[in-house]
Amino acid sequence: MDCVFCAIINGDIPSSKVYEDDMILAFDDINPVAPVHTVIVPKEHICCANKVDESNSKYVQRIFEKIPEIAKAKGIDSYRIINNCGEDAGQTVKHLHFHLVGGVKMGEKII
Ligand code: 5GP
Ligand code: ZN
Repeated sequence: MDCVFCAIINGDIPSSKVYEDDMILAFDDINPVAPVHTVIVPKEHICCANKVDESNSKYVQRIFEKIPEIAKAKGIDSYRIINNCGEDAGQTVKHLHFHLVGGVKMGEKII
């Protein structure tokens, strides 16, 4: 399977790791949109939010349990969590991921 985030998880593509455990990996986005822009991914390949179900929601649970720790490690306690699901939403990497974006005053609007 040709998945850039699986390649990062496997260590085939280097990344700037922020947090890692047995289930999830967080690394800095290669093209940051804010002073803090970290991507958090499950270590299991799940294509997108549409494929989250009872068998794999534990990864989403773990990600959200660790978001406060990851944000704190990046020095922020105010941030936006973004998940793009599918083409219209602008999902470019088809491996479920959450953007942790912060370190700057953001507008109120999502789009
Ligand atoms: P999406 O648009 O799918 O929600 O977000 C994908 C994100 O992955 C983009 O913000 C993009 O900059 C980031 N990205 C794509 N390839 C790489 C890579 O090889 N390394 C890192 N660190 N980020 C990547
Ligand atoms: Zn993958």
